[in-house]
Amino acid sequence: MSIQRRDFLKALGAAGFGTVAALPGCATTGGGAGGKVVVIGGGYGGATAAKYIRMWSDGGVDVTVVEPSPEFISCPLSNLVIGGSKQIGDVTVSYDNLPKRHGVKILRDTATSVDPEKRTVKLASGQELAYDRLILSPGIDFMWDKVPSLNNADAQGKILHAWKAGAQTVALRNQLVAMPDGGVYAISIPVAPYRCPPGPYERACQVAWYFKRAKPKSKVLILDGNGDVTSKGPLFKKAWAEEYKGIVEYRPNHVLTDVDVATRTAKFEVQDSVKADVLNILPPQRAGAIARSAGVVTANDRWCDVDFLTFESVKVKNVHILGDAIQIATGMPKSGHMANQHAKVCAAAVIALLSGQAPNPTPVLSNTCYSFITDREVVHVCSVHQYDKEKKTLLPVAGAGGVSPAANELEGGYAFSWAQNIWADTLA
Ligand SMILES: Cc1cc2nc3c(=O)[nH]c(=O)nc-3n(C[C@H](O)[C@H](O)[C@H](O)COP(=O)(O)OP(=O)(O)OC[C@H]3O[C@@H](n4cnc5c(N)ncnc54)[C@H](O)[C@@H]3O)c2cc1C
Repeated sequence: MSIQRRDFLKALGAAGFGTVAALPGCATTGGGAGGKVVVIGGGYGGATAAKYIRMWSDGGVDVTVVEPSPEFISCPLSNLVIGGSKQIGDVTVSYDNLPKRHGVKILRDTATSVDPEKRTVKLASGQELAYDRLILSPGIDFMWDKVPSLNNADAQGKILHAWKAGAQTVALRNQLVAMPDGGVYAISIPVAPYRCPPGPYERACQVAWYFKRAKPKSKVLILDGNGDVTSKGPLFKKAWAEEYKGIVEYRPNHVLTDVDVATRTAKFEVQDSVKADVLNILPPQRAGAIARSAGVVTANDRWCDVDFLTFESVKVKNVHILGDAIQIATGMPKSGHMANQHAKVCAAAVIALLSGQAPNPTPVLSNTCYSFITDREVVHVCSVHQYDKEKKTLLPVAGAGGVSPAANELEGGYAFSWAQNIWADTLA
């Protein structure tokens, strides 16, 4: 799928993706910045940072993105592919405009190690890249040691997560299509924090939407490691009680300990084991592995603490971290929208630092997460996050956010526009 010019123009007009933080920084830092920036990961955080550093430095800063995937495949909307109302092509966007329109260099490769002393990155191909500033946006990796029987490639090919959009998204859809009517789909949710708090509940709705039409005797079991639904709880529970009555069952406090791959059985710390026809396991998560090599994993051996004015690591100089990999501030979700906002604050700060200026001291970020209840009815949650000088962190602005009153089609339209706009903002 290609991004059209009109989508790009729409994105420029979209209020939602500007950061109050980034714009003043940009206005004061654009001219004169030079130097080399390497970005590891061309997802929601990395691709946005790369594009905006090029734009806001008037092409002065040399930017190279290292990303193994030939195309950008979006996790947002990927639950609709699992439900069957969208195809994987509908959530796939080309990287072509980043080099063509913005002069971003893209290397289709994987970063294997970082030497923060020498300021170099080694790639799987053997190439070595030097940087003045390094930006890591590697997303998440799974803590397979917490689900021992899945700690091998064969098992991971059978019991899917589909929590990184792509081949697994399609494979999970195929498992659902192959499942006979009367079967059980079970999804295991890890204890928070994990990527996209409402995502697992949206997925349960999308699978139920499919079952209701194609396999009405089938069931959706939500096996949640948390004590309650972690996001938009009343709205999801209403959908399960009404729209998906008799199909969806929600079970809290199900902390997974392992699975039996052959019988597709999930095992828990306290609760009874559950056998399913399609078992979908979301293992506990942590920052993408390259963060470890860079030495920036500082919180609970999982996430990376950053200075929220620059997104620079609190531990390793000249290395910035964005998106799901960071140790979040209070009330901040691990979302694509948030990664986009991190990227813009970071882009402005990197340009400022490369030209010897101070970064903007008062960043403000916003977030909106839409969840599809049916193929077109949607609920949202939104929030605004402002830098607090005394506490040196981003704090939610009281009264500035909110949730939908109920699922509705109008917001379905907004959600599809949100996706088109953020893909254009990131990649066009
Ligand atoms: C089912 C689902 C639904 C979601 N829905 C929404 C939604 O509606 N709204 C929303 O805002 N968010 C949503 N999210 C969350 C969103 O996808 C993530 O928060 C977002 O992708 C985080 O951006 P990121 O840049 O941190 O990571 P990613 O976007 O995952 O990008 C990481 C990139 O880094 C690359 N990479 C990793 N390691 C290396 C390496 N060593 N070398 C080179 N490249 C590397 C990967 O290939 C990948 O492309 C959803 C997530 C899921 C799973």
